[in-house]
Amino acid sequence: MRDFLRVKRSASGLGLFTTKDIMQGTFIMEYTGNLISTQQAESRGGRYLFKINSKWAVDGKGRENMSRYINHFCQPNCEVQISKKMVLIYASRDIEKGEELGYDYGAEYFLAHIKTKGCKCPYCRFKKIIES
Ligand SMILES: [Zn+2]
Repeated sequence: MRDFLRVKRSASGLGLFTTKDIMQGTFIMEYTGNLISTQQAESRGGRYLFKINSKWAVDGKGRENMSRYINHFCQPNCEVQISKKMVLIYASRDIEKGEELGYDYGAEYFLAHIKTKGCKCPYCRFKKIIES
């Protein structure tokens, strides 16, 4: 694990936070796990499956995959790039020391796992406060 990242409590359970400033475009970490077929992924199910394309997914439930603590953000500060079946996470903007990291999990995941419970990302929490 990158030594400047810490797992801490966040609004959505546990989250991954940075203890130093990160510049936009910086490679943060790989979403690691076993490469499995999307068929296997669909029969296994679970929250830590990362679909790479129509054929392959990464099962990131293992403890060594610290990036599984990165939560969904509707206004993300990280983005994912797929390269040779690897899931690589980069900073999509400058991130300040102390901020939680988040990327957009995509519409499919959002509808299946987040929407019904209500999104607890910083953007949606802020929106709730100003609307109430
Ligand atoms: Zn949200």
